[in-house]
Amino acid sequence: MDYQSTRSASVRATSAQAVLNGLAPDGGLYTMPSLRDIQFNYPDVLGLDTLSMATVILSALLPDYPEEEMAKLVRSGYADKFETDDLTPSAAVGEDTVLELFRGPTSAFKDVALSMLPRLMTAARSKCGFTDEILILTATSGDTGKAAMEGFCDVPGTKIIVFYPDGGVSPVQKAQMTTQKGSNVCVCAVRGNFDDAQTGVKRIFAAVRDEKLLDGSGVSLSSANSINIGRLAPQVVYYFRAYADLVRAGRIHTGDKVDYVVPTGNFGDILAGYFAKEMGLPVGRLVCASNANNVLTDFLRTGHYDRRRPFYQTVSPSMDILVSSNLERLLYLLSGDDSLVAGLMEKLSACGSYDVPAEMLAKLKELFWAGFCDDEGTKAAIGKVWRDYHYLCDTHTAVAWDVAQQYKRENPDHNPVVILSTASPYKFPAAVLEGIGETARGDEFAVMEQLHAVTGVPVPKNLAGLREREVLHRDVIAPEEMLSYVLEKAGKKNW
Ligand SMILES: *Cc1c(COP(=O)(O)O)cnc(C)c1O
Repeated sequence: MDYQSTRSASVRATSAQAVLNGLAPDGGLYTMPSLRDIQFNYPDVLGLDTLSMATVILSALLPDYPEEEMAKLVRSGYADKFETDDLTPSAAVGEDTVLELFRGPTSAFKDVALSMLPRLMTAARSKCGFTDEILILTATSGDTGKAAMEGFCDVPGTKIIVFYPDGGVSPVQKAQMTTQKGSNVCVCAVRGNFDDAQTGVKRIFAAVRDEKLLDGSGVSLSSANSINIGRLAPQVVYYFRAYADLVRAGRIHTGDKVDYVVPTGNFGDILAGYFAKEMGLPVGRLVCASNANNVLTDFLRTGHYDRRRPFYQTVSPSMDILVSSNLERLLYLLSGDDSLVAGLMEKLSACGSYDVPAEMLAKLKELFWAGFCDDEGTKAAIGKVWRDYHYLCDTHTAVAWDVAQQYKRENPDHNPVVILSTASPYKFPAAVLEGIGETARGDEFAVMEQLHAVTGVPVPKNLAGLREREVLHRDVIAPEEMLSYVLEKAGKKNW
């Protein structure tokens, strides 16, 4: 029993159960009691290729999976699916390093985790003696749905249904999803907004559980969202990869500290950096970069978390989040106090805010630095990085780049800085074009071509030619029809 709930130390699970369950039964997140127990000698992994590095790190984080087995899962999850064998290459941009997490099959950083999760789940299924087929349900505002479909595509023992708001995703995101191949994938538009789709999915989980609608059917529902430890663990690897690349490039010596700047939404990506640090990697500061939805900036500066604030739709939409679920794991790991965490989470849901004790705030400030950048600053950063370094970055990366410069200005004793880059500029082509001083013309597909014509930066293979690809999914339903849609699909052997 290596894992427990953040809200109750007596709710325990093996790492395989934690992957299979996603959320702990008491509503908490699964965590190891401490990461200090899985520290290892990090210089040993720095010389490894990325897949071998991933094997060692993932086996340490998920002890039910021995290295020999993990090596096979890592290979089937990643090999030949990313643009480079490194999976996540680094690029020097001025005096900083940009860690490119978007070289996967859908050009989103979520690919790193969602390529592995299905493999971890199917292995967990046999470890736990679970014979049901796993049916994944996801509501998406665009990116996660596509990355999840790509990850689960043709993985035996699994099926996936993705719901997206009809008219609520970009034309490129819609085309990415509706042209998805695979005999076990399904995507369906819901007449409504993202909240309607997400509420619909939550209702299905509740109805199926309470009314036992799928009992005896050989099918069990599960989710692929970012609180699953099987999504967090694969993200730890690229902190080591980037460090090894800096050593290889002669930009640091082994043992030097490195600061990582992370564009943050649900706090999964940056928490993985904290895991890497606790496992022994010489991480200096973790810098949390937010857009105008700067709830985390305020929290990390004051210890006061308050989600009662205006919600802004920004040009970096994957960071438009007011409740960062993965933060709960950090609160537990810093305090080791399950009842404290349970209490804070209760306050958050009852009153929308909480304050952490002074000792925890002191620890937070030592580990993290936080800043934010609004849309105007984001576009200005895209322009500056392009003009000064001829490097084209997306809107989320631009937020991180701007906050990195703020951080360096205010902390002259900083370490070498790695900026995590979470999306291809071609996923947000209009804002990127504006950033480099051009006017976007035509639909999003045309704007992608325009961006390529102006910059010469290659369009990722999965995005080029998207418009010509055959549309395979056309279903559009009302929110009230979602449950019957799922039950009907669950009852069919072949889709
Ligand atoms: C999901 C996402 C983020 C935020 O990552 P978290 O783990 O939720 O903090 C940042 N940028 C992009 C492009 C994303 O898709």
